Amino acid sequence: MNETNCIFCKIANGEILARLVAESEHAVAFHDIAPAQPVHVLIIPREHHANVSDLAFANPAALVDLMQLASKIAAENTNGAFRFTFNTGAEAGQTVFHAHGHILSKQPKGSID
Ligand code: AMP
Ligand code: ZN
Repeated sequence: MNETNCIFCKIANGEILARLVAESEHAVAFHDIAPAQPVHVLIIPREHHANVSDLAFANPAALVDLMQLASKIAAENTNGAFRFTFNTGAEAGQTVFHAHGHILSKQPKGSID
């Protein structure tokens, strides 16, 4: 599934460049363009779904794959303390309507806690 004019579909298919962190069968992870914390990685399903709840019902295998990739990224890039959030709905702060998780940490790997 792919939506025209969806910026994250364009990142997933390589039309728009992003600073890639990791990829898997169903997910792509890249650095947030405006990092809110020292570690701020976005992780998206390759398929277009408006939010994580839609993804959960439409393609649960893709959501598990995405969660596993996020867990690996957190293990490799943080000291083990991180947040993994999916803003869902404009009133909750969602601005890009292609499902995405934010991996956020104040403690990059190797930092002094
Ligand atoms: P949200 O507010 O939860 O919808 O998150 C959208 C996030 O996407 C924000 O943190 C933006 O900084 C980030 N963002 C928007 N465009 C890009 C882009 N081209 N590359 C990387 N991150 C982006
Ligand atoms: Zn999309």
